[in-house]
Amino acid sequence: MKKNTPNLAFSFSKIYCSLFGHDYLLSKNVTHHIKEYTCAHCGEQATTNSRGRLEVMTPKLKEINNALAFVHAKKQAKASNPNTSLKIAL
Ligand SMILES: [Zn+2]
Repeated sequence: MKKNTPNLAFSFSKIYCSLFGHDYLLSKNVTHHIKEYTCAHCGEQATTNSRGRLEVMTPKLKEINNALAFVHAKKQAKASNPNTSLKIAL
């Protein structure tokens, strides 16, 4: 009898993580303070929330991060453009 278990490695990772905790690796810088992480074992995603704590990624948090990243990119663009800064100062 041959057992076909293609998800064995994935399930094992889940068990490993539930026993030893996730091994989160930085996957994306959203802003200077908010970052996204992905677990090296099971691929689960987490993010730093507005209070600086690590939270499991949800579609809602993903949406917030995308919005923050957009605003952050805009701010960065303004900061590197002296003409725009001058206009704001006046
Ligand atoms: Zn994990």
